[in-house]
Amino acid sequence: MANDDLALRMKVATSCRVLGMLGLVNESTGHVSTRVPGTDEMWIRCRGGDELGLTFTGIHNIRRTDFDGNGPHVGDKHGSPNETPIHGEIYRAHPEVNAVVHAHPWYALLCGVTNLEFRPVYGGYDPSSLDIVRKGVPIYPSAKTITDKDLAAKLIACMGDRNVVLMKGHGITVTGKTVEEATTLAIKFDRLARVMWEIATSGRKADDLSPEDLGRYNRPDRGSEPRTGWRAVVDGAENFVWNHYVKMLEVANIGVPTDTDSP
Ligand SMILES: [Zn+2]
Repeated sequence: MANDDLALRMKVATSCRVLGMLGLVNESTGHVSTRVPGTDEMWIRCRGGDELGLTFTGIHNIRRTDFDGNGPHVGDKHGSPNETPIHGEIYRAHPEVNAVVHAHPWYALLCGVTNLEFRPVYGGYDPSSLDIVRKGVPIYPSAKTITDKDLAAKLIACMGDRNVVLMKGHGITVTGKTVEEATTLAIKFDRLARVMWEIATSGRKADDLSPEDLGRYNRPDRGSEPRTGWRAVVDGAENFVWNHYVKMLEVANIGVPTDTDSP
């Protein structure tokens, strides 16, 4: 296997383990993919093989398929997920997207089914997840699994130009230029949803940030490089967050997948 292919497979498998460790995916629900550069194919977390759930994803679970989930590397032992259209149709619609995470996080589920409004109530605590609120959280209103292209088109239309969508009664989908970026964004979204949920269930009211405080997180770059605003994942920070959770896989005795996992 070419090193580049192995590296991409490793990243997708590692992302699955991190999301499992953090509870954003349960058992074998949810999946991560990345575009194979320069092709109409992707590496995607498939089902089957020696299936142990997302937390224990091996390299062998990550298979190369076309955007419809077909190809010579899926078949008897491994199958592409029912919700493959989430991934393939996003890649078709958005050439700038190279990674997709679809997860079923607990707090996003609770916020979605109770129609909880995401509001900007904190700043310095975690500016990256504040940024998600500032830019808006699209809500996809149907709880159906996205098993065909028509449903995927509706989901993509709901996302618009956002890189995150809350799927009511179902989960979340986030996108990124890299697996690290999409994974980090999913984790940040989970943190945001948890804060929103715990405020709501505390019975106490949290004030929105003042316009002045909110403006603090919407100003141009303080350095010499111009930028239009705070991104959900700040340049350079994504690897820090990613590296942190990859390290935590070791501490949690889950570990990172190795190429010896590949049959
Ligand atoms: Zn799903």
